Amino acid sequence: MTGPATPDPVVLRAPRLLDGTGAPPFDDAALLLEAGRIAYAGPAAGLPEGADRLPALDFPGATLVPGLVDVHVHLVASGHPDLAAGLPKTEVERTIAAVANARRQLDQGVTLVRDLGAPGAEAVLVGRAVEEGTIAGPRVVAAGPAVTMTGGHIPYLGRVTDGVEAMRASVRANLAMGARCIKVVATGGVLTPGVDPREPAYTQPELDALVSEAHRLGLTVAAHAIGEGGVASALRAGVDSIEHGMFLDEAAIELFLRTGARLTPTFLAPHGILGGPSVPGWIKDRARPAAEAQVRSFRAAVEAGVPAVAGTDAGTPDNPHGGVARELEFMVDAGLPVPRAVRAATAEAADLLGVSDRGVLRRGAAADVLVAGGDVAADITALQRPLAVFQDGRRLV
Ligand SMILES: [Zn+2]
Repeated sequence: MTGPATPDPVVLRAPRLLDGTGAPPFDDAALLLEAGRIAYAGPAAGLPEGADRLPALDFPGATLVPGLVDVHVHLVASGHPDLAAGLPKTEVERTIAAVANARRQLDQGVTLVRDLGAPGAEAVLVGRAVEEGTIAGPRVVAAGPAVTMTGGHIPYLGRVTDGVEAMRASVRANLAMGARCIKVVATGGVLTPGVDPREPAYTQPELDALVSEAHRLGLTVAAHAIGEGGVASALRAGVDSIEHGMFLDEAAIELFLRTGARLTPTFLAPHGILGGPSVPGWIKDRARPAAEAQVRSFRAAVEAGVPAVAGTDAGTPDNPHGGVARELEFMVDAGLPVPRAVRAATAEAADLLGVSDRGVLRRGAAADVLVAGGDVAADITALQRPLAVFQDGRRLV
């Protein structure tokens, strides 16, 4: 593990701090990191007695924010124009690619990711290696293979599963592999010929069985769902997040509010596909209507009070790892105030992943910190200029 040696304890100072909760920024801010935890976060004037004698790192012009969280990545995939064709052929090669992509995430200030689909245990293994300190990367909450129907989306990143009993069995098989959440493919997808992205994939009883089994075993569920019908049946089943959700009607938004599910819009996914010079035309044609509907659906959802979380779908065509700060730029362009956008990639996201002592700069939380090169509150793109990244109090970038 490389990175500059970090004093412990250490004080970080910057003109501003956003704590990740959605609160407005503090000015003239300081953080005290000690033994991997945050011992103080707030105005420099409030630092505890004696802190002025501790080693300090000054970041003029910067903003202190929690280490970023990307709730939707595919570590085995690297942004090839054709996702399926670009996947490395062996599990060993895919795991090596996942290690390299994890590093790319960390270099951009991402200290926690949720991996939502791999052929096998690749992302689970990367997460274990990060926890053991063997490699440097974000902590990983991995789904293992996505649960998808015969003829459904991304079978090459999934476990093909049909029927109520088989849904329960697939949840258990992923649990045995080390998964900490479940990904279910509830509609067709842009990248896979077959089911239309607007059409539901699974029956209601199948989704109900999957979600109840996952929750019974302590696993949260993320549903890939693009069209209204699939979004609604996934929400009725009780999923914890909807991934993509490009077509949302009033009924779907009401279901979000009733169930407390979060929305991961993944703006970068269609953006990469439509902007990618080598992405096949048939994929662009399938992505276009979804991209057009997306901003309207996202606005309607967040205005109604649906909590947004930031996920990039990194690894999909022309969507390389480490882009979550750019995803937030799309959210702000769509009308979300900056502190709420930052919350979508920090506190809200970490809470969805069941890691609520991360994604927030407050006393007692894990010392995961991104030092962003600029005034984030005035310019969200400052998050794309990482000056330093700390994970569990250690400077890794
Ligand atoms: Zn995905």
